[in-house]
Amino acid sequence: MFDNKSQGRQPVSELGEFGLIKHLTKHFKIKQQTTAKGVGDDAAVLNQETGYQTLLTTDMLVEGVHFDLSYMPLKHLGYKAVIVNLSDVYAMNANAEQITVSIAISNRFPIEAVEELYAGIKTACEMYNVDLVGGDTTSSTSGLIISITAIGKAKAEDVVYRNGAKPNDLVVVSGDIGAAYLGLQVLEREKQVFLVNPKAQPDLEPYSYLVERQLKPEARKDVVELLKGLGVKPTSMIDISDGLSSEILHICDQSKVGCKIFEERIPLDPQFISTCEEFKLEATTIAMSGGEDYELLFTIPIEDHDKIKGNPHLTVIGHIADVSEGVNLITRANAQVPIIAKGWNNLSADEEE
Ligand code: ADP
Ligand code: MG
Repeated sequence: MFDNKSQGRQPVSELGEFGLIKHLTKHFKIKQQTTAKGVGDDAAVLNQETGYQTLLTTDMLVEGVHFDLSYMPLKHLGYKAVIVNLSDVYAMNANAEQITVSIAISNRFPIEAVEELYAGIKTACEMYNVDLVGGDTTSSTSGLIISITAIGKAKAEDVVYRNGAKPNDLVVVSGDIGAAYLGLQVLEREKQVFLVNPKAQPDLEPYSYLVERQLKPEARKDVVELLKGLGVKPTSMIDISDGLSSEILHICDQSKVGCKIFEERIPLDPQFISTCEEFKLEATTIAMSGGEDYELLFTIPIEDHDKIKGNPHLTVIGHIADVSEGVNLITRANAQVPIIAKGWNNLSADEEE
């Protein structure tokens, strides 16, 4: 397993708060035209452009609640903390341009550990072309806390909300689903093995895709650009952070519609399927209730079907229905079962079979 605590031990107190901030942020370059002033004053200053709206979103990650440093390298943690925020901006059909990063660290973290965290943050900023424009640094008596705010921009007419899905719209998902959650199960299992026998070195190779989806997720900026290029504006959109079932319920609830999702259409990676078999887990249940995939779930008018048909990044998994029809999964056995927040209603599936 990873050892996040012993890589160098220069205490943070040697630099002091201001020295640390300078040290961590000096290699970040400003890239966005809307950034007038980044780190270094009392507040960041952003330029406004007429016709555009600003999008703002925050996520906080707490050690022991959202991540476990025994298998999460700090560099990956920094990267992921940025990704989860950018994903929320892309889910509004907008582009992310700035982030702020606030951290609370205990004295068990040496400067080298915070540097690792910021190396991951910097990689994400470069990959997704966003500027780090500020943050806050404070101490924590126990674990590590990271709170990131992302700022995005979109033309007012381009912003997509959760509430615009209409009956007959197609339900589309990007990428594949469930792998990140299964990756977490793999890492948890290896951690238990390691706790019993610290000499055991985990063989994660057969699960490389799953572990990567958990430790190094990507946000689908490319899908937002792809749709723009195809001339498709989703009627509703959300990113998959909590699991497909919970996200589809959000869209249906806010749009006041029902839907039919087809089990056989849900895109699953072959490694996900084989590992579900090995772990004796039901693939559809994990795909529906997992989470942290950071794929985009959206609806499009049926007239736009030809524009996305055959695209390897996008899968039509169902369609929107009238609210009176409810939110349902159509199983491979052609049974209709209600989708519930934590997956789908297995019980009623058994009853109907
Ligand atoms: P203030 O006391 O006015 O809040 P700070 O000393 O907290 O100022 O911050 C000084 C500058 O450094 C500000 O631009 C702030 O946004 C930035 N900053 C502080 N902590 C961080 C951090 N962890 N990451 C990035 N920027 C930071
Ligand atoms: Mg401050």
